[in-house]
Amino acid sequence: MSEHSENCIFCKIIAGQIPAKKVHEDDEIIAFHDINPAAPLHLLIVPKTHIETLADVRPADEAVLGKMMAIAPRLAFENGAPPMPEGGLRVIMNVGPSGGQEVYHIHLHVLAGDKPWRGFA
Ligand code: ADP
Repeated sequence: MSEHSENCIFCKIIAGQIPAKKVHEDDEIIAFHDINPAAPLHLLIVPKTHIETLADVRPADEAVLGKMMAIAPRLAFENGAPPMPEGGLRVIMNVGPSGGQEVYHIHLHVLAGDKPWRGFA
């Protein structure tokens, strides 16, 4: 599996070839607003390495997967998710065709606000 895939929309966002409303970027991950939000706040957290699905994760990828999960609450609260203890957020990863995955570059959905499960029930 290569680090970058030519026809991948998220690789193009990572490379700066198409725009995105970024909320975070570091050496390993990028996070931006979903173009078609399913909740008042809908972010995507994406590794810079092109990994197609959660089923393709290798041991060397485990750290970046953990980082994606660990940063989700901070990015959600910084971008308007209702604060704890009353508020919160939802994190989802779709895997494969029957898991509802459409973009084959692994990504964590971060949803928050009123009914953050809409479209993901
Ligand atoms: P689903 O569309 O069923 O949620 P995925 O889990 O593969 O499937 O999610 C892909 C997500 O990427 C969708 O929520 C879609 O709105 C989002 N998306 C697609 N293209 C862009 C883009 N250029 N910028 C931001 N988000 C995008």
